[in-house]
Parts: sequence; structure tokens; C-alpha cells
Amino acid sequence: MTHTSGEFELIDWIRQRAGRGGANVAIGIGDDAAALSIGDDEELLVATDTLLEGVHFDRSTALPREIGRKAAAVNVSDLAAMAARPIAVVCGLTLTKGLAGEFVRELMAGMIQLAESQGASLVGGDVTSWDGPLAVNVTAVGVCPKGKAVRRSGAHPGDAILVTGPLGGSLGSGRHYWFQPRVTEALALVEAADVHAMIDLSDGLAADLGHVCDESGCGATLVAEGIPIHEDVGDADRLSHALGDGEDFELLFTVDPADAERLLADPPAGLTLFRVGETTDEPGLRIIDANGNSKPLDRLGWSHDL
Ligand SMILES: [Mg+2]
Repeated sequence: MTHTSGEFELIDWIRQRAGRGGANVAIGIGDDAAALSIGDDEELLVATDTLLEGVHFDRSTALPREIGRKAAAVNVSDLAAMAARPIAVVCGLTLTKGLAGEFVRELMAGMIQLAESQGASLVGGDVTSWDGPLAVNVTAVGVCPKGKAVRRSGAHPGDAILVTGPLGGSLGSGRHYWFQPRVTEALALVEAADVHAMIDLSDGLAADLGHVCDESGCGATLVAEGIPIHEDVGDADRLSHALGDGEDFELLFTVDPADAERLLADPPAGLTLFRVGETTDEPGLRIIDANGNSKPLDRLGWSHDL
């Protein structure tokens, strides 16, 4: 979910402090999930995320079932971004004292339902309470064949950049509570093509593409006319919303241009794909507007004169 720049600095510090990790760490800090070697054939993927009352949900408007569902879904989405199959979730629940039992039961029912719909079981957790706001942490665990987790760092200059659905307007419409994590889609994609890099769109198209470029050591050029804008977006600044709103939880991935042509011509079952641009040798993000002019794009998704 959307981060502040201070949070990114802290994550960088923690990443350096933690180092490369032990022999079992195939992928450490810096991707959508960590990957741990657990045998000759498979890796275990682990992702965690916390939803805070007043930041990620509003208890006066969101249903408890929606809060629980979202807490599981954002983590399962991170597993999808690695092309992992979810198997389990663990929940850390920090309750506000006096919260009705029915509210908590509904919240957990939403979480369990989402997890089970994606093939994962709730297998444990922790419940505490205090006078502060409600906080819901979920850790999701998945598996994938050894060495096959798709990283943010695998993009090559000249790759085609694709997304799995229309973008923007998720927070305003409430779609961020009800989005479908793209697990099936991710597994179908890696069957169908050599996916070089992948991320789920939580921070926004521009910001998340920026993460892929940072990790891959490349830049990217988006083509405004190729970016699918969600029907939830209103009439004003439509492109900026698609670039910057975040919490769409579609997948962004890069493949060889020839693979992109093939996937777009004959998408794997159930997938809707859009080609939004290409990665470049030149660092930084740019966008080509409707008149064919290339302009710098900032990570918040705003570019002058679009
Ligand atoms: Mg993610």
C-alpha cells in the first residue's frame, strides 16, 4: 500500500542492516515477498502487511468483513506478484478494547473466506487488545517451484510492460476492499511466457513501475494511449488517476516484445492484458502523450501538461 518517502528510506536501511541472509534465503528484503529454500524442488514465499484503522480503512464506513477480506487479499496479492501459490495465512489482530465480538467475528470471517477462495488456510495468529485503534496484520505463505519466483529485478531494457486490468479510482469507489488478487492470472502467465519481472500495483502504476526499474537497473517509457483507465475514475485528470491512485492490485510485468505480441494476440485463459510501455536503458520514467511527445513522469503519477 501507499508508502511515504520516509518509509522507503527506513526500508532501505533495514535492508542493508539485514544483509543478504543465510543459506536458505533465496530472496530477501526488497521484493513483494521473501523466498526461502526448503528442499530440492520448492521455495516458500512469505509476505506481510498491516492495515491500520484511520489509515487503510475507516471503521465507520467499512464493513468488518471488508476489512478482514482486504487484510488477507493485499498479502495474497504480494504472493501473486511472485507467481507463488498461496497455502496459508497467519493473523495478528490488535483490537480496540470494547469492540463488539460480532464485529471481530465478521472481520475474521472475511479474512478466512478470502484466504480459502485462494487455496490458503488460516493456520494461526495472535489476538491482543488496547485502547488504541484497530490494527490487522496478516502474513501470507505460498509456494513456487525452486528458482521460479518472479522478481522485481528481472526486467531487461527493451522489454514490453503489460498490466492485467484497468487502473485508477480504487480508493474512491471502495474497490480496494473487494479486488480479486491475481493469483490464477500470475500462474497462467508464467506457464505461458518467460516473465522477466513482476509486481502488484499497490502504490500506483508510476510508483510501482519505479520499484521495478530501481531493482532492475533500467528506466521505462509509458505510452499514455495504452494505459487502461478504470471506469471508477471520474472525468477530471483521468490519466493521472490511472498513474497515481494505487491499490488497484492488478499485476504489472515485463516480457520480451515477441512474447508480449503473442500474449496479447492469444491471452491465457481468463486474462485481460494491456501493453502500457517498454523498459529502457536510460534511467527514469517518461510518458509519451497523445501527440507523441515524451515527457518526464514523477513517481506520484503526475506529469505536467498531460
Ligand atoms: Mg506488492
